[in-house]
Amino acid sequence: MGKSYDALKTRLGEIQSIGQAGAVLGWDQRVYMPPKGAEARARQSSILAKLGHEMFVSPVTRDLLAAAEGEKAEFAEDSDELAMLRVARRDFDKSTKVPTSLIVEMTEVCTLGEEVWTKARRDNDYKTFAPWLDRILGLKRQYAKAIGYQKRMYDALLDDFEEGMTADLLDPLFESLKSVTIPLVAAIVARAGRVDDDFLGQECEERLQEEFGRRVLKECGYDFARGRLDRAAHPFCTHFSINDVRITTRYNRTWMTESLFGCLHEMGHAFYEMNGKPEYEGTVLSGGVSLGVHESQSRLWENLVGRSRVFWEHYYPELQKVFAQQFRRIELEAFYRAINRVTPSLIRTEADEVTYNLHIILRYEMENELLEGKLSVADAPAAWNAKMKGYLGIVPPNDADGILQDIHWSGGGIGYFPTYTLGNILGVQWMEKAREALPSLDQELRAGKFTGLYEWLRKNIHQHGRKYPPGELVRRVTGRPLTIEPYVNYLRKKFGEIYGVTA
Ligand code: ZN
Repeated sequence: MGKSYDALKTRLGEIQSIGQAGAVLGWDQRVYMPPKGAEARARQSSILAKLGHEMFVSPVTRDLLAAAEGEKAEFAEDSDELAMLRVARRDFDKSTKVPTSLIVEMTEVCTLGEEVWTKARRDNDYKTFAPWLDRILGLKRQYAKAIGYQKRMYDALLDDFEEGMTADLLDPLFESLKSVTIPLVAAIVARAGRVDDDFLGQECEERLQEEFGRRVLKECGYDFARGRLDRAAHPFCTHFSINDVRITTRYNRTWMTESLFGCLHEMGHAFYEMNGKPEYEGTVLSGGVSLGVHESQSRLWENLVGRSRVFWEHYYPELQKVFAQQFRRIELEAFYRAINRVTPSLIRTEADEVTYNLHIILRYEMENELLEGKLSVADAPAAWNAKMKGYLGIVPPNDADGILQDIHWSGGGIGYFPTYTLGNILGVQWMEKAREALPSLDQELRAGKFTGLYEWLRKNIHQHGRKYPPGELVRRVTGRPLTIEPYVNYLRKKFGEIYGVTA
Protein backbone atom coordinates (compact mmCIF):
# COMPACT_ATOMS: atom_id res chain seq x y z
CA MET A 1 0.00 0.00 0.00
CA GLY A 2 1.23 3.46 -0.94
CA LYS A 3 4.49 2.33 -2.56
CA SER A 4 5.01 5.54 -4.53
CA TYR A 5 3.88 7.50 -1.51
CA ASP A 6 6.62 5.89 0.60
CA ALA A 7 9.23 6.58 -2.07
CA LEU A 8 8.11 10.21 -2.29
CA LYS A 9 8.28 10.54 1.48
CA THR A 10 11.85 9.20 1.51
CA ARG A 11 12.91 11.60 -1.21
CA LEU A 12 11.31 14.63 0.44
CA GLY A 13 12.98 13.59 3.70
CA GLU A 14 16.38 13.62 1.99
CA ILE A 15 15.71 17.06 0.53
CA GLN A 16 14.71 18.31 3.96
CA SER A 17 17.96 16.98 5.44
CA ILE A 18 19.92 19.03 2.92
CA GLY A 19 17.97 22.11 3.96
CA GLN A 20 18.62 21.40 7.63
CA ALA A 21 22.34 20.97 7.01
CA GLY A 22 22.22 24.39 5.33
CA ALA A 23 20.46 25.75 8.41
CA VAL A 24 23.33 24.53 10.63
CA LEU A 25 25.73 26.51 8.46
CA GLY A 26 23.46 29.54 8.68
CA TRP A 27 23.26 29.30 12.47
CA ASP A 28 27.03 29.03 12.77
CA GLN A 29 27.44 31.99 10.45
CA ARG A 30 25.29 34.22 12.64
CA VAL A 31 26.54 32.96 16.01
CA TYR A 32 30.17 31.83 15.85
CA MET A 33 31.79 32.27 12.44
CA PRO A 34 34.74 34.68 12.26
CA PRO A 35 34.13 37.50 9.74
CA LYS A 36 36.65 36.22 7.23
CA GLY A 37 34.78 32.94 6.92
CA ALA A 38 31.98 34.67 5.03
CA GLU A 39 33.17 34.02 1.49
CA ALA A 40 33.63 30.27 1.84
CA ARG A 41 30.42 30.02 3.84
CA ALA A 42 28.43 31.71 1.08
CA ARG A 43 29.75 29.08 -1.38
CA GLN A 44 28.91 26.21 0.94
CA SER A 45 25.43 27.48 1.72
CA SER A 46 24.57 28.17 -1.88
CA ILE A 47 25.66 24.73 -3.12
CA LEU A 48 23.47 23.07 -0.49
CA ALA A 49 20.54 25.32 -1.43
CA LYS A 50 21.12 24.50 -5.10
CA LEU A 51 21.29 20.74 -4.49
CA GLY A 52 18.10 20.81 -2.44
CA HIS A 53 16.24 22.90 -4.99
CA GLU A 54 17.37 20.78 -7.94
CA MET A 55 16.33 17.58 -6.22
CA PHE A 56 12.97 19.07 -5.38
CA VAL A 57 12.02 20.40 -8.81
CA SER A 58 13.51 17.44 -10.73
CA PRO A 59 11.43 15.10 -12.91
CA VAL A 60 12.11 12.34 -10.36
CA THR A 61 10.19 14.24 -7.66
CA ARG A 62 7.53 15.33 -10.15
CA ASP A 63 6.88 11.73 -11.25
CA LEU A 64 6.92 10.35 -7.70
CA LEU A 65 4.45 13.02 -6.63
CA ALA A 66 2.14 12.25 -9.52
CA ALA A 67 2.36 8.51 -8.84
CA ALA A 68 1.72 9.02 -5.12
CA GLU A 69 -1.30 11.17 -5.94
CA GLY A 70 -2.56 8.19 -7.92
CA GLU A 71 -2.70 6.27 -4.63
CA LYS A 72 -4.90 8.84 -2.89
CA ALA A 73 -7.89 6.48 -2.75
CA GLU A 74 -5.93 4.29 -0.33
CA PHE A 75 -5.82 6.99 2.32
CA ALA A 76 -8.55 8.02 4.72
CA GLU A 77 -10.06 11.49 4.68
CA ASP A 78 -8.25 13.79 7.13
CA SER A 79 -5.29 11.37 7.10
CA ASP A 80 -1.69 12.57 7.46
CA GLU A 81 -0.94 11.00 4.08
CA LEU A 82 -3.46 13.14 2.22
CA ALA A 83 -2.25 16.22 4.06
CA MET A 84 1.33 15.41 3.08
CA LEU A 85 0.36 15.07 -0.56
CA ARG A 86 -1.51 18.35 -0.47
CA VAL A 87 1.42 20.22 1.08
CA ALA A 88 3.96 18.56 -1.21
CA ARG A 89 1.87 19.52 -4.26
CA ARG A 90 1.57 23.10 -3.06
CA ASP A 91 5.32 23.40 -2.44
CA PHE A 92 6.16 21.72 -5.73
CA ASP A 93 3.87 23.92 -7.83
CA LYS A 94 5.17 27.04 -6.14
CA SER A 95 8.76 26.04 -6.83
CA THR A 96 8.19 25.17 -10.46
CA LYS A 97 5.85 27.95 -11.58
CA VAL A 98 8.50 30.62 -11.45
CA PRO A 99 11.01 30.53 -14.34
CA THR A 100 14.60 29.90 -13.24
CA SER A 101 15.74 33.03 -15.08
CA LEU A 102 13.44 35.16 -12.91
CA ILE A 103 14.70 33.51 -9.71
CA VAL A 104 18.30 34.13 -10.73
CA GLU A 105 17.58 37.76 -11.58
CA MET A 106 15.71 38.30 -8.32
CA THR A 107 18.57 36.84 -6.29
CA GLU A 108 21.13 39.02 -8.06
CA VAL A 109 19.14 42.25 -7.91
CA CYS A 110 18.19 41.72 -4.28
CA THR A 111 21.76 40.92 -3.21
CA LEU A 112 23.00 44.11 -4.84
CA GLY A 113 19.88 45.96 -3.66
CA GLU A 114 20.77 45.17 -0.05
CA GLU A 115 24.24 46.61 -0.54
CA VAL A 116 22.86 49.77 -2.10
CA TRP A 117 20.29 50.05 0.68
CA THR A 118 22.95 49.70 3.40
CA LYS A 119 24.86 52.68 1.98
CA ALA A 120 21.70 54.66 1.21
CA ARG A 121 20.48 54.28 4.77
CA ARG A 122 23.87 55.21 6.21
CA ASP A 123 24.04 58.32 3.99
CA ASN A 124 20.34 59.14 4.31
CA ASP A 125 20.15 59.07 0.52
CA TYR A 126 16.86 57.64 -0.76
CA LYS A 127 17.57 58.75 -4.34
CA THR A 128 20.32 56.15 -4.85
CA PHE A 129 18.05 53.40 -3.56
CA ALA A 130 14.96 54.45 -5.53
CA PRO A 131 15.91 52.88 -8.91
CA TRP A 132 16.65 49.60 -7.13
CA LEU A 133 13.32 49.63 -5.37
CA ASP A 134 11.74 50.23 -8.75
CA ARG A 135 13.53 47.19 -10.22
CA ILE A 136 12.64 45.01 -7.26
CA LEU A 137 8.97 45.97 -7.55
CA GLY A 138 9.06 45.13 -11.25
CA LEU A 139 10.49 41.68 -10.50
CA LYS A 140 7.89 41.13 -7.79
CA ARG A 141 5.14 41.93 -10.28
CA GLN A 142 6.58 39.34 -12.65
CA TYR A 143 6.78 36.87 -9.79
CA ALA A 144 3.16 37.48 -8.82
CA LYS A 145 2.07 36.91 -12.43
CA ALA A 146 4.05 33.66 -12.60
CA ILE A 147 2.56 32.35 -9.35
CA GLY A 148 -0.91 33.61 -10.28
CA TYR A 149 -3.54 35.35 -8.20
CA GLN A 150 -7.28 35.80 -8.27
CA LYS A 151 -7.78 39.45 -7.54
CA ARG A 152 -4.96 41.50 -6.09
CA MET A 153 -1.31 41.20 -7.01
CA TYR A 154 -0.43 41.32 -3.32
CA ASP A 155 -2.18 37.98 -2.76
CA ALA A 156 0.46 36.07 -4.71
CA LEU A 157 3.24 37.48 -2.51
CA LEU A 158 1.34 37.09 0.74
CA ASP A 159 0.52 33.47 -0.04
CA ASP A 160 4.22 32.55 0.25
CA PHE A 161 4.05 33.36 3.94
CA GLU A 162 0.38 32.94 4.85
CA GLU A 163 -1.52 30.41 2.78
CA GLY A 164 -5.03 31.49 1.96
CA MET A 165 -4.68 35.07 3.23
CA THR A 166 -5.61 37.84 0.80
CA ALA A 167 -5.54 41.62 0.66
CA ASP A 168 -9.34 41.61 0.56
CA LEU A 169 -9.39 39.80 3.90
CA LEU A 170 -6.69 42.00 5.39
CA ASP A 171 -8.14 45.37 4.37
CA PRO A 172 -11.20 45.35 6.68
CA LEU A 173 -9.16 43.78 9.47
CA PHE A 174 -6.56 46.52 9.29
CA GLU A 175 -9.18 49.26 8.90
CA SER A 176 -10.86 48.28 12.14
CA LEU A 177 -7.52 47.93 13.88
CA LYS A 178 -6.63 51.46 12.76
CA SER A 179 -9.96 52.85 13.89
CA VAL A 180 -9.30 51.55 17.41
CA THR A 181 -5.56 52.09 17.64
CA ILE A 182 -5.14 55.62 16.28
CA PRO A 183 -7.46 57.25 18.87
CA LEU A 184 -6.07 54.96 21.59
CA VAL A 185 -2.53 56.10 20.86
CA ALA A 186 -3.63 59.75 20.80
CA ALA A 187 -5.36 59.35 24.18
CA ILE A 188 -2.28 57.65 25.62
CA VAL A 189 0.04 60.37 24.33
CA ALA A 190 -2.08 62.92 26.17
CA ARG A 191 -1.43 61.01 29.40
CA ALA A 192 2.14 59.96 28.70
CA GLY A 193 3.25 61.16 32.13
CA ARG A 194 1.45 58.28 33.83
CA VAL A 195 4.17 55.81 32.89
CA ASP A 196 7.86 56.20 33.54
CA ASP A 197 10.40 53.66 32.33
CA ASP A 198 13.63 55.53 33.01
CA PHE A 199 14.62 53.08 35.72
CA LEU A 200 14.79 50.27 33.14
CA GLY A 201 17.86 52.05 31.81
CA GLN A 202 20.00 51.17 34.83
CA GLU A 203 23.08 49.10 34.26
CA CYS A 204 22.62 45.35 34.84
CA GLU A 205 25.43 42.84 34.55
CA GLU A 206 25.10 40.71 31.41
CA ARG A 207 26.03 37.48 33.15
CA LEU A 208 23.15 37.93 35.58
CA GLN A 209 20.76 38.83 32.78
CA GLU A 210 21.70 35.64 31.02
CA GLU A 211 21.30 33.50 34.14
CA PHE A 212 17.88 34.98 34.78
CA GLY A 213 16.84 34.45 31.16
CA ARG A 214 17.95 30.82 31.21
CA ARG A 215 16.06 30.21 34.38
CA VAL A 216 12.82 31.67 32.98
CA LEU A 217 13.23 29.67 29.76
CA LYS A 218 13.67 26.46 31.71
CA GLU A 219 10.71 27.10 33.96
CA CYS A 220 8.48 27.89 31.00
CA GLY A 221 9.36 24.49 29.54
CA TYR A 222 12.27 25.11 27.16
CA ASP A 223 14.26 21.88 27.11
CA PHE A 224 17.99 22.59 27.02
CA ALA A 225 18.66 18.95 26.10
CA ARG A 226 16.91 19.77 22.81
CA GLY A 227 17.98 23.37 22.40
CA ARG A 228 20.56 26.06 23.09
CA LEU A 229 20.62 29.72 23.93
CA ASP A 230 23.35 31.78 22.28
CA ARG A 231 23.85 35.43 21.52
CA ALA A 232 23.43 37.07 18.11
CA ALA A 233 23.16 40.61 16.79
CA HIS A 234 19.56 39.96 15.71
CA PRO A 235 17.74 37.37 17.82
CA PHE A 236 16.35 34.39 15.92
CA CYS A 237 15.21 30.79 16.28
CA THR A 238 16.38 27.98 14.01
CA HIS A 239 15.96 24.21 14.00
CA PHE A 240 17.59 21.17 12.48
CA SER A 241 15.13 18.60 13.85
CA ILE A 242 12.46 18.58 16.55
CA ASN A 243 15.23 17.62 18.95
CA ASP A 244 17.54 20.48 18.06
CA VAL A 245 15.76 23.83 18.15
CA ARG A 246 18.06 26.73 19.00
CA ILE A 247 17.41 30.29 19.99
CA THR A 248 19.49 33.44 20.36
CA THR A 249 19.08 36.74 22.12
CA ARG A 250 21.12 39.92 22.57
CA TYR A 251 22.19 41.68 25.73
CA ASN A 252 21.99 45.35 26.46
CA ARG A 253 23.71 46.30 29.68
CA THR A 254 21.59 49.41 30.09
CA TRP A 255 18.23 47.93 29.05
CA MET A 256 17.97 44.54 30.73
CA THR A 257 14.44 43.75 29.53
CA GLU A 258 15.63 43.51 25.93
CA SER A 259 17.41 40.18 26.41
CA LEU A 260 14.60 38.68 28.46
CA PHE A 261 11.81 39.56 26.04
CA GLY A 262 14.06 38.41 23.20
CA CYS A 263 14.36 35.03 24.96
CA LEU A 264 10.62 34.75 25.51
CA HIS A 265 9.84 35.69 21.92
CA GLU A 266 12.22 33.17 20.40
CA MET A 267 11.14 30.56 22.93
CA GLY A 268 7.59 30.85 21.57
CA HIS A 269 8.90 30.09 18.08
CA ALA A 270 11.00 27.24 19.47
CA PHE A 271 8.07 25.55 21.24
CA TYR A 272 6.22 25.41 17.94
CA GLU A 273 9.13 23.62 16.26
CA MET A 274 9.88 21.32 19.21
CA ASN A 275 6.35 20.06 19.64
CA GLY A 276 5.35 18.83 16.22
CA LYS A 277 4.20 15.20 16.08
CA PRO A 278 7.35 13.01 16.10
CA GLU A 279 6.00 11.07 13.11
CA TYR A 280 6.03 14.29 11.05
CA GLU A 281 9.77 14.58 11.52
CA GLY A 282 11.55 14.66 8.17
CA THR A 283 8.30 15.16 6.24
CA VAL A 284 6.71 18.22 4.65
CA LEU A 285 4.26 18.34 7.58
CA SER A 286 6.99 19.19 10.09
CA GLY A 287 7.38 22.75 11.34
CA GLY A 288 5.09 25.74 11.62
CA VAL A 289 2.29 26.21 9.12
CA SER A 290 2.75 29.92 8.39
CA LEU A 291 4.64 32.99 9.53
CA GLY A 292 1.51 34.45 11.08
CA VAL A 293 0.81 31.37 13.21
CA HIS A 294 4.51 31.20 14.10
CA GLU A 295 4.49 34.81 15.17
CA SER A 296 1.34 34.19 17.21
CA GLN A 297 3.39 31.77 19.31
CA SER A 298 6.28 34.14 19.89
CA ARG A 299 4.03 37.12 20.66
CA LEU A 300 1.89 35.04 22.98
CA TRP A 301 4.87 34.21 25.17
CA GLU A 302 6.55 37.58 24.84
CA ASN A 303 3.54 39.85 25.30
CA LEU A 304 0.49 37.97 26.56
CA VAL A 305 2.51 36.03 29.13
CA GLY A 306 5.79 37.95 29.50
CA ARG A 307 4.27 41.43 29.69
CA SER A 308 1.34 40.40 31.89
CA ARG A 309 0.90 41.38 35.50
CA VAL A 310 0.42 37.78 36.68
CA PHE A 311 3.74 36.71 35.20
CA TRP A 312 5.57 39.43 37.11
CA GLU A 313 3.69 38.79 40.30
CA HIS A 314 5.73 35.60 40.27
CA TYR A 315 8.99 36.79 38.74
CA TYR A 316 9.38 40.34 39.97
CA PRO A 317 10.44 39.39 43.51
CA GLU A 318 12.99 37.07 41.90
CA LEU A 319 14.24 39.82 39.64
CA GLN A 320 14.51 42.14 42.64
CA LYS A 321 16.74 39.59 44.34
CA VAL A 322 19.06 39.35 41.33
CA PHE A 323 19.20 43.10 40.69
CA ALA A 324 18.59 44.36 44.20
CA GLN A 325 20.35 47.65 43.86
CA GLN A 326 18.46 48.52 40.67
CA PHE A 327 14.93 47.40 41.54
CA ARG A 328 14.47 47.00 45.27
CA ARG A 329 12.82 50.40 45.59
CA ILE A 330 10.66 50.02 42.49
CA GLU A 331 7.17 48.66 43.06
CA LEU A 332 5.81 45.78 40.98
CA GLU A 333 3.10 48.03 39.55
CA ALA A 334 5.64 50.60 38.37
CA PHE A 335 7.69 47.86 36.76
CA TYR A 336 4.62 46.40 35.04
CA ARG A 337 3.71 49.80 33.61
CA ALA A 338 7.25 50.49 32.49
CA ILE A 339 7.52 47.29 30.45
CA ASN A 340 4.20 48.21 28.83
CA ARG A 341 4.96 51.83 28.09
CA VAL A 342 3.37 53.08 24.87
CA THR A 343 5.02 55.82 22.90
CA PRO A 344 4.88 56.68 19.20
CA SER A 345 8.34 56.15 17.77
CA LEU A 346 9.97 56.24 14.38
CA ILE A 347 11.44 52.76 14.29
CA ARG A 348 9.20 49.69 13.90
CA THR A 349 11.53 47.26 15.67
CA GLU A 350 11.51 49.43 18.78
CA ALA A 351 7.74 49.91 18.85
CA ASP A 352 5.48 48.86 21.74
CA GLU A 353 2.49 46.51 21.55
CA VAL A 354 -0.02 49.23 20.60
CA THR A 355 1.87 51.31 18.05
CA TYR A 356 3.59 48.31 16.44
CA ASN A 357 0.61 47.41 14.27
CA LEU A 358 0.40 50.92 12.85
CA HIS A 359 3.95 50.55 11.56
CA ILE A 360 2.88 47.30 9.90
CA ILE A 361 -0.31 48.70 8.38
CA LEU A 362 1.64 51.63 6.95
CA ARG A 363 4.03 49.24 5.17
CA TYR A 364 1.21 46.99 4.01
CA GLU A 365 -0.68 49.89 2.47
CA MET A 366 2.41 51.24 0.78
CA GLU A 367 3.43 47.85 -0.59
CA ASN A 368 0.00 47.48 -2.19
CA GLU A 369 0.05 50.95 -3.69
CA LEU A 370 3.59 50.57 -4.99
CA LEU A 371 2.93 47.15 -6.51
CA GLU A 372 -0.27 48.26 -8.18
CA GLY A 373 1.40 51.40 -9.48
CA LYS A 374 -0.89 53.73 -7.52
CA LEU A 375 2.12 55.23 -5.80
CA SER A 376 5.39 56.02 -7.55
CA VAL A 377 8.75 55.16 -6.05
CA ALA A 378 9.67 58.86 -6.23
CA ASP A 379 6.63 59.87 -4.15
CA ALA A 380 7.06 57.06 -1.62
CA PRO A 381 9.06 58.95 1.07
CA ALA A 382 6.45 61.71 1.23
CA ALA A 383 3.67 59.11 1.41
CA TRP A 384 5.53 57.37 4.23
CA ASN A 385 5.88 60.57 6.22
CA ALA A 386 2.24 61.53 5.68
CA LYS A 387 1.10 58.16 7.01
CA MET A 388 3.43 58.43 10.03
CA LYS A 389 1.89 61.79 10.80
CA GLY A 390 -1.66 60.49 10.35
CA TYR A 391 -1.23 57.27 12.34
CA LEU A 392 1.34 58.10 14.99
CA GLY A 393 1.41 61.87 15.00
CA ILE A 394 5.14 62.05 14.30
CA VAL A 395 7.18 62.73 11.17
CA PRO A 396 10.62 61.22 10.58
CA PRO A 397 13.28 63.94 10.42
CA ASN A 398 15.01 62.02 7.60
CA ASP A 399 14.51 59.02 5.29
CA ALA A 400 17.07 56.92 7.18
CA ASP A 401 14.65 56.85 10.11
CA GLY A 402 11.68 56.73 7.75
CA ILE A 403 11.27 54.79 4.54
CA LEU A 404 14.86 53.51 4.58
CA GLN A 405 14.73 51.93 8.03
CA ASP A 406 13.92 48.30 7.13
CA ILE A 407 16.17 45.97 5.15
CA HIS A 408 13.17 43.98 3.86
CA TRP A 409 12.28 45.71 0.59
CA SER A 410 15.89 45.85 -0.55
CA GLY A 411 16.11 42.07 -0.19
CA GLY A 412 12.83 41.49 -2.01
CA GLY A 413 10.87 40.86 1.20
CA ILE A 414 7.56 42.31 0.08
CA GLY A 415 4.34 40.75 1.37
CA TYR A 416 5.24 39.46 4.76
CA PHE A 417 5.01 42.43 7.08
CA PRO A 418 1.29 41.69 7.66
CA THR A 419 2.15 38.34 9.25
CA TYR A 420 3.51 40.20 12.29
CA THR A 421 0.13 41.76 12.98
CA LEU A 422 -1.70 38.54 12.13
CA GLY A 423 0.45 36.95 14.83
CA ASN A 424 -0.64 39.57 17.35
CA ILE A 425 -4.30 39.05 16.50
CA LEU A 426 -4.10 35.25 16.55
CA GLY A 427 -2.13 35.14 19.79
CA VAL A 428 -5.06 36.73 21.61
CA GLN A 429 -7.54 34.38 19.94
CA TRP A 430 -5.52 31.36 21.14
CA MET A 431 -5.21 32.80 24.62
CA GLU A 432 -8.96 33.36 24.84
CA LYS A 433 -9.55 29.70 23.99
CA ALA A 434 -6.83 28.52 26.38
CA ARG A 435 -8.49 30.49 29.21
CA GLU A 436 -11.81 28.80 28.46
CA ALA A 437 -10.19 25.39 28.61
CA LEU A 438 -8.04 26.21 31.65
CA PRO A 439 -10.14 28.28 34.06
CA SER A 440 -7.27 28.50 36.56
CA LEU A 441 -4.72 29.63 33.96
CA ASP A 442 -4.07 33.01 35.60
CA GLN A 443 -3.56 31.43 39.01
CA GLU A 444 -1.12 29.00 37.42
CA LEU A 445 0.85 31.78 35.72
CA ARG A 446 0.85 33.75 38.95
CA ALA A 447 2.44 30.73 40.62
CA GLY A 448 5.04 30.38 37.85
CA LYS A 449 3.40 27.23 36.51
CA PHE A 450 3.38 27.03 32.73
CA THR A 451 2.66 23.37 32.03
CA GLY A 452 -1.07 23.91 31.45
CA LEU A 453 -0.58 26.58 28.79
CA TYR A 454 2.39 24.78 27.24
CA GLU A 455 0.40 21.57 26.87
CA TRP A 456 -2.66 23.35 25.54
CA LEU A 457 -0.58 24.97 22.81
CA ARG A 458 1.18 21.71 22.03
CA LYS A 459 -2.04 19.77 21.74
CA ASN A 460 -4.12 22.33 19.87
CA ILE A 461 -1.55 23.98 17.62
CA HIS A 462 2.03 22.71 17.68
CA GLN A 463 1.48 19.00 17.13
CA HIS A 464 -0.38 19.57 13.86
CA GLY A 465 2.64 21.05 12.10
CA ARG A 466 1.57 21.94 8.56
CA LYS A 467 -1.32 19.48 8.41
CA TYR A 468 -4.07 22.11 8.34
CA PRO A 469 -3.80 25.38 6.39
CA PRO A 470 -3.74 28.40 8.74
CA GLY A 471 -7.39 29.34 8.19
CA GLU A 472 -8.54 25.80 8.93
CA LEU A 473 -6.34 25.56 12.01
CA VAL A 474 -7.90 28.75 13.39
CA ARG A 475 -11.40 27.43 12.82
CA ARG A 476 -10.59 24.05 14.34
CA VAL A 477 -9.10 25.55 17.49
CA THR A 478 -11.31 28.59 18.06
CA GLY A 479 -14.51 27.57 16.28
CA ARG A 480 -14.43 30.68 14.11
CA PRO A 481 -12.27 32.38 11.52
CA LEU A 482 -9.49 34.82 12.31
CA THR A 483 -11.22 37.72 14.00
CA ILE A 484 -10.07 41.07 15.31
CA GLU A 485 -12.49 41.59 18.23
CA PRO A 486 -10.62 39.66 20.94
CA TYR A 487 -7.44 41.52 20.03
CA VAL A 488 -8.89 45.04 20.08
CA ASN A 489 -10.68 44.23 23.34
CA TYR A 490 -7.38 43.09 24.78
CA LEU A 491 -5.60 46.30 23.70
CA ARG A 492 -8.38 48.54 25.02
CA LYS A 493 -8.59 46.77 28.35
CA LYS A 494 -4.88 46.40 29.08
CA PHE A 495 -3.68 49.79 27.93
CA GLY A 496 -6.86 51.61 28.88
CA GLU A 497 -6.24 50.48 32.43
CA ILE A 498 -2.52 51.33 32.44
CA TYR A 499 -3.15 54.84 31.09
CA GLY A 500 -6.57 55.43 32.59
CA VAL A 501 -8.18 56.06 29.20
CA THR A 502 -11.30 54.77 27.54
CA ALA A 503 -10.73 55.00 23.79
ZN1 ZN B 1 9.27 36.35 15.67
